[in-house]
Amino acid sequence: MRKAKILATLGPASNTQEKIEMMIESGISAVRINMSHGTHEEHTAAIANARAAAAKLKRALSILVDLSGPKIRTRTLKDKLPVELKVGELFTITTREIEGNQSEVSTNFDHLPEVVEQGTRILIDDGAIELGVVSKTETDVLCRVLVGGWLKERKGINLPNVRLPIPSMTEKDHADLIWAMGQNVDYIALSFVRQAEDCRQVKDLIKKMNPRTMGRALLVAKIEMAEAIENLDEIIAETDGVMVARGDLGVETSVELVPVYQKRIIEKAVANDKFVITATQMLQSMIESPSPTRAEASDVANAVWDGSDAVMLSAETASGNYPVEAIRTMARIIDAAETVKPAQLRKPVKFSQPPSGRTSQALCKAAAYAAKEVLTEKVAVFTESGLMARRLSTIRSGLQTFGLTSSRDACNQLALIWGVEPYMHESGGTTNDMLREGEKTLVKSGVVSPGETIIMMAGRLSGLGLSSSVIVWTIGEDIPKR
Ligand code: PGA
Ligand code: MN
Repeated sequence: MRKAKILATLGPASNTQEKIEMMIESGISAVRINMSHGTHEEHTAAIANARAAAAKLKRALSILVDLSGPKIRTRTLKDKLPVELKVGELFTITTREIEGNQSEVSTNFDHLPEVVEQGTRILIDDGAIELGVVSKTETDVLCRVLVGGWLKERKGINLPNVRLPIPSMTEKDHADLIWAMGQNVDYIALSFVRQAEDCRQVKDLIKKMNPRTMGRALLVAKIEMAEAIENLDEIIAETDGVMVARGDLGVETSVELVPVYQKRIIEKAVANDKFVITATQMLQSMIESPSPTRAEASDVANAVWDGSDAVMLSAETASGNYPVEAIRTMARIIDAAETVKPAQLRKPVKFSQPPSGRTSQALCKAAAYAAKEVLTEKVAVFTESGLMARRLSTIRSGLQTFGLTSSRDACNQLALIWGVEPYMHESGGTTNDMLREGEKTLVKSGVVSPGETIIMMAGRLSGLGLSSSVIVWTIGEDIPKR
C-alpha cells in the first residue's frame, strides 16, 4: 500500500466523473478545487462528479477547497492580447480601471501605490517578468522593466518583502468559504497566510458556519510568503496542516531557498503532529509531455522522503494534456521511493523528550512498540473523528495503518493522511463486539487474514469500553473471507 498520498487539482482537463474515476484508479486519494479559477457552479459540479466517482469505485476521497487569499493580479488587456514588455522600457501599473496595453495595465490591488516606493521590485507571472518602481502618483506606479517578457491577462503580482495592509481573507474568500461549507468539504486551504492570527480567524469562521459538525473541515495553511516562514512555529501551532506552496514561495523568497524551506516546513509540521502537503511544479513538464524529467522524478521521491503526507499536482491535472499519465507517473515514483528507507525515515519511534504528557502519544507509541514485539506490521485504529488515526500517522512508525470509522466524513478526510487506509465500519456495542466487527471489516477488505496477529487500538470513544486502549489481537479463524 502506498503511504504518501496524491492530491490532484481538478480543472477543465479533469473535472468529469469519468476522468476522476480514471484518476482514482491511477492513484489519487484527494482532489483540490482551486478557487482562483472558475465559478461556484462549475466547482459544485466538479465536487458532485468527484463524489460520484468515489462512490462508484467504493473509495474514500478527500476534497480540499483552496481559497485564493489576497492574491494580487493584473487585470484585462485590450482584446485579450498579450503585450511584450521590453527590458529598459517604462511600464505603468495603475489602480484606475482601464484596458491594459503596451504601456499600462490595471491591478485589483487598490493599495499598490501606498505600499511601494522607488526601487521596490514588482514580480509578475510567478516572477517571469520583473519591474522596478521609478515613481508613483495616487493611482499609478511607474516602473522600469528589469526582466522582460510577454504579459498575458490576469497574471499574479508578487511584492517580495512588502508588508501588505490587507486582511488574509478577502470578500471573495468569505463567499467561497460559505459555499465550501455548504458542500461539506474535508479541507480548507488558505493562501498567503502571514501569521497565526490568519489561521485562528479562518478556524473560527469554519466553526461558526458549521456548528452542527463543529466545523469539521481541517485547515491547511499555505506557506508561501517570507512572513509565514518567519512565523512558522506559531502558524504550525494554530493550523491543522500546512502546504509547502513552492510556486509563490519561490517568488516571495527566492528559488534557491525553496528546498531549504521545504525541509524545514515538513520536519516542523510532522514533529508537531500536523499533516503536510508538498505542492507545485512536481511534474511540470508533464503538462505538455507524456513523460517527466529525471529531475522531476527525483523531486517527487525527495518530497516523499522528506516526510510529506501528500504530493500535489496543479496544472498537470487541471489543464495539462496528460492528467492521467501524470498521476500514474507520480504513483510509480512514490511506490519506488517507498521501497527504500532513507536515514530520516529509519529513525525508530522515539519517546518524547521532554515527555509530551499526552495520552494520544502514549497510545500511538505503545501500539508501535507492541507491533514490533509481536512481529506485526499492521495496526487498526478505531476513530470516530479521524483524529487518532492522524496522530498515529504523525509518529511515522511505518506500520500499515487501518483507520476504522463509522463516519463517512472522517473516512473521506483520512484519505489524504500519510500511511492511513480508511475503512467504513459499524460502531457501537461492547468492546468485544467492536473488535469482532473491526476484524470482519479488515478480513472482508482483504488486508488481514484469519489467524493473523495485529494491533487494535482506540482513542477516546465516549461510552465505549475500548476507549483509550491498545490490544494485541489475533484475527478469528472463523471469520469468513470476502
Ligand atoms: P497556488 O498555490 O497554486 O494556489 O498558487 C500553490 C503555490 O503557490 O505553490
Ligand atoms: Mn500560491
